[in-house]
Amino acid sequence: MTTLDNMSAVAPVGYRLRLPGPTEVPERVRQAMARVVVNHRGPECKAAIGQAQEMIRPVLGTANPVLFFASSGTGLMEAALVNVAGPGCRILVVEHGQFGERFTSIARAMRIEVDTVAVEWGRAIDIAAVEARLREVDYRAVVVVHNESSTGIIADLAALGALVRERPTLLIADSVSGLGGVEMRQDEWGVDIVVSASQKALMCPPGLALASVSPKAWRVIGQDDGRAVFYWDFRRALKSAEQNETAFTAPVSHIYGLREALAMIHEEGLPAVLARHARLSSALRTGGAALGLADFCAEGPRSNTVVVFQVPKGLEGSTIVRRLYQDHRTVIAGARNRLSGRVIRFGTMGTFDAGTILTDLLHLEDTLAKLGHPVVPGAGLKAATEHLAATA
Ligand SMILES: *Cc1c(COP(=O)(O)O)cnc(C)c1O
Repeated sequence: MTTLDNMSAVAPVGYRLRLPGPTEVPERVRQAMARVVVNHRGPECKAAIGQAQEMIRPVLGTANPVLFFASSGTGLMEAALVNVAGPGCRILVVEHGQFGERFTSIARAMRIEVDTVAVEWGRAIDIAAVEARLREVDYRAVVVVHNESSTGIIADLAALGALVRERPTLLIADSVSGLGGVEMRQDEWGVDIVVSASQKALMCPPGLALASVSPKAWRVIGQDDGRAVFYWDFRRALKSAEQNETAFTAPVSHIYGLREALAMIHEEGLPAVLARHARLSSALRTGGAALGLADFCAEGPRSNTVVVFQVPKGLEGSTIVRRLYQDHRTVIAGARNRLSGRVIRFGTMGTFDAGTILTDLLHLEDTLAKLGHPVVPGAGLKAATEHLAATA
C-alpha cells in the first residue's frame, strides 16, 4: 500500500462515533471548518471570534468574557489552576472520578498543595463534607468536575457555588463533557471558572478549549504572586479577547466550526437541546436495563451526556467494545482506569437523535447475544421506544 492510499483512507462505511468524546461532527460544522483559512488577526477571524463569544455566553449562563485557546480540554484544566494558584497555595479537589483525579495530578505537578474530598465513584458528591473542609481551611479554590465522564455523575454546582459565595475561595468547574448538553448557569450558581473543550457536546473536532472567568476570579488572577505562566496567562488572553483575538495564533478553522455548532444549538433552541439530551440519555439507560445492563451509578444525579453501564458478570468490557466496532462500526468507550473491563460508556451528546440510541441498542443486543449474554430479542428497543413515547 502506498503512503497516499493510507492518507486518503477515511472511516469505514457506517462508522458511528458514539464515544463520550470526541463526538460526531455534523456536516454543517465540517463544511464550516473547510472554509479558506484567513488571517488570524483580520476582520473575518475577529468577526467569527466575536460571534462565537456572543453565542457561547448563553450556553454558559454568563456575562463573562470567554477565552479561547488552541488546546485539548486538559490544557484548560491546567490553565485554570495555574492562573489562580502557585506553589504553596492550597486547593480542595472534589474527586468523584477519573477527571477529578487528573486535577489532583495537575495541581501536584504545579507544586500546589492539594487536599481532596474523595467520593465513591458513581455516587453523588457529599456537599456537607466539602463544607466541613471549607470551615477548616481557607482554600484558594474548590475544584470539581461538573460532568464526570468516567462515571456518569453530575456535580451540584449550585450547592457548591453557595458554599464559596461568601468566602474568598473560588469555585473551578471542568464542564468539558457537560457544556452544551447539560445545564450550566455559571453566574447564577457562582462558578468562578468554567473550562470546556470543543470535541464533546459542542460538536467540533478536538483542538479548541475555552475558559469563562468571573469578576471574583479576575481579582485573584490580578494579584500577581509570581506565578509561572505564559501560554495560559488569562490576563494576556483577556486583553486579546477584548479585541476579538487570541493572544497567539487562533485555531481559525476551529473557530469557524464552533461558531457553526453554536448557531445550530441556538437554531434548535438551548432548552430544546438540553431536553433532547435528558430524554435520549434516559431512554438509552432504560433500553440498556431491559437488556440486563445495570446503570453504573447507584444513586445521585445522572449525566445527560454520558451513559455508563455495568458489564454483566462473565463478560469483559473491552470485548463488548471491540465486537461493537468489528461487527457494527459502532465505537463506544470502556474505561482506562480502575473500572477497566467493568463498564462500557456511550456518549449521549451533540448531534444525536432517537434513531441514534435505538441503533445503539440494536447493535448492543446483537453483540451481547453473540457473547452469550441472555437477551430477549427486541427487549431493549421496546423499553426505549416506550420511554420515548411516554416522554414525547
Ligand atoms: C474529555 C474530558 C476532558 C478533556 O480531555 P482532553 O483529552 O484533554 O480533551 C476533561 N474533563 C472531562 C470531564 C472530560 O470528559
